[in-house]
Amino acid sequence: MNLNKLIKLIPKTDLHCHLDGSIRPETILDIAKKEHIPTINDDLNSFQKEVKILGKCNSLKEYLNKFYLPIKIMQKKEYIYRVTLELLEDALKENIKYIEIRFAPLNHLDGGLTLDEVIETVISAMNYGRSNLHIMSNLIICALRHEPVEKAIKLINSAKKYAGKGVVALDLAGNEADFPPEIHTKPFDLAKDYNIHRTVHAGETGIVENIMKSIKLLHAERIGHGTYAYKDKNTLVYLAKNKIPLEMCITSNVNTSAVNSYEEHPIKKYLDYGLAVTVNTDNTTVSNTTITKEFEYLVKYQNFDLEDIKKVTENGINFSFASAEDKLKLHAEYSSFIKRFLGSGGVCY
Ligand SMILES: [Zn+2]
Repeated sequence: MNLNKLIKLIPKTDLHCHLDGSIRPETILDIAKKEHIPTINDDLNSFQKEVKILGKCNSLKEYLNKFYLPIKIMQKKEYIYRVTLELLEDALKENIKYIEIRFAPLNHLDGGLTLDEVIETVISAMNYGRSNLHIMSNLIICALRHEPVEKAIKLINSAKKYAGKGVVALDLAGNEADFPPEIHTKPFDLAKDYNIHRTVHAGETGIVENIMKSIKLLHAERIGHGTYAYKDKNTLVYLAKNKIPLEMCITSNVNTSAVNSYEEHPIKKYLDYGLAVTVNTDNTTVSNTTITKEFEYLVKYQNFDLEDIKKVTENGINFSFASAEDKLKLHAEYSSFIKRFLGSGGVCY
């Protein structure tokens, strides 16, 4: 079997996918029109560039500007439900069997919704997806770096009642350069007390110290990106020794100029070094990608072979925050796929 065909068919996970960065452009435009939210372009073709980065931008800040319209249109239950369901439908087309969707509920209160209503709406679409589309998912709620810590405390206190019922983890997202991890220790202490997992965006924009700070001060069990881990040998050793997974999103890193090109991304070096690397999309719309494309880029630009693909796919299952029961299902499906397509003398070229 051709490696690219296998990439399309292999059962995959996506552990780092922002809901507001992964909304279909036609949906954003449709809701913007209904809600009289101004856009620069009103035909879909020209509109794409308002919500996508095509190539590179100058910084993470410029990248984050692409979230303005998506957040603006996600202020009513019906729209939040719709974009969640559409994301699940799109994920399924790429053979994603389990996805951890993340977003910042605090960004969706402008229309009068409460934090509970925002979170419940996403969980309700995820439950529909599990029952009717047969795609498993969990929710990671993001605290925002630039917001006062009190808001993140309110968020985690609101979310604790959904622990084990859809919400699996707390994340810290946003402008890493100006707001270091230590500002947000309290909500992450609470998440740990409430048995809610922790993952933190860190080392995405050149500040390698944020990786160890997130692990030590915020109890991070996984690191979002961790692209700059190579800048500090002790961090690399610690990540490898303690099997702290990296949620890597290579197109996003090219977009934000965290790396110069796909070829220069450190992902293969990390994998060969023994780090627990996982492959994810970050934002399918903003980064104009899919999980299948991310794997294709790894083969094309990073010389990933079959063993590498298998390793990161297995890591995606093993290091997910899925329940033991869901992990068993994912492993069974993955093993049966491998047996069917590669077993008993099957070759992949
Ligand atoms: Zn992210």
